[in-house]
Amino acid sequence: MSPGSSTESYPAFAQIGLRKTPEKTHPANILDKYGTEDTRKVRQVLREKAFENWSQKKHKGKGVLLYQHYTPANKWIRNHKGLSCSEWREAIKMNANVSAVHSVPGRSSGSNLCRRCDREVETLAYVLGACPHGELLRNTRHHTVRSIIATALRNKGYSVYEEVHGISSEGSNRRIDIIAFKPPSLEGYIIDPTVRFESHEHQPEEVHEEKRNIYEPSISFYKDKYHLESIVITGLMIGALGTIPRFLVDFCKSLACIKVF
Ligand SMILES: [Zn+2]
Repeated sequence: MSPGSSTESYPAFAQIGLRKTPEKTHPANILDKYGTEDTRKVRQVLREKAFENWSQKKHKGKGVLLYQHYTPANKWIRNHKGLSCSEWREAIKMNANVSAVHSVPGRSSGSNLCRRCDREVETLAYVLGACPHGELLRNTRHHTVRSIIATALRNKGYSVYEEVHGISSEGSNRRIDIIAFKPPSLEGYIIDPTVRFESHEHQPEEVHEEKRNIYEPSISFYKDKYHLESIVITGLMIGALGTIPRFLVDFCKSLACIKVF
């Protein structure tokens, strides 16, 4: 903002009640012109405006709307406890999709294929979600998430079984991540947590639908196995960049294990 400009230049400031003409004509900082409460409001407006601009960017804004679903999951941005400075810096770069992967123009001197496997274009989504070089780490991450959820459910009195093999109605094999039920209730839950690279806001619902289609044909097998009357299937997406979708939070609330994350 140029020195001396008023709220007229920023209609959003006027909307939140900052109508006074600033006393200082050449402030060093726009925020110096207002009191603490006003400053808080101004920061809020600027933050929301920046977030909106970011989320509208075609490439760098992919999936960022998921960050607003559960904001406590973003606190690592301010407090990087548990991460070294370089890890934290890389995490920030990944969140803005500006990591130095080969698919970024000017970041490779020749091929834009993955530097590890040479099979696909090296995008951040490919590196984090599909490159065979990271498979072991991805499996470990998935198992960690699964056992956090399973432990939270056990602590709430559920009977929980993990990695259970089953047979679908067409005779093919299935392996569910978690099945949980709380005796004497005869309702069970098949839960399939999946870490997925964020791409758009409705991705969690799509993942849920995808998982439902996979496991629905095996419901009768699990009903017989655990003597249940009904089973609800839930696919839970967790963002590869660390976002926690509202869908997951609501699910945890519904099973009374909100303290999972
Ligand atoms: Zn690769």
